[in-house]
Amino acid sequence: MQQFPCPFCGLRDETEFHFGAEAGKHRPEPAPDVSDADWADYLYGTDAPKGAAREVWVHLTCGEFFVMTRDTVTRAVLGADALPGRNI
Ligand SMILES: [Zn+2]
Repeated sequence: MQQFPCPFCGLRDETEFHFGAEAGKHRPEPAPDVSDADWADYLYGTDAPKGAAREVWVHLTCGEFFVMTRDTVTRAVLGADALPGRNI
């Protein structure tokens, strides 16, 4: 079983984590002006980069969201950082 690093709790089993979203993906605004294509891309589109990818994850045990950088080829965890504005 792989272990992931929570910036607040340290290394934990992967079963304690849940994927949230791609990091840096922003909801298109204002909603009345968003086209169907842009909304569908926001909901279902992914960049799926080969190599390092920044993703938002939540550690279910402590309930904290953070950004984890993973290599999508090797599955190696390259880093885990608290979200901006969060003091640790
Ligand atoms: Zn945690």
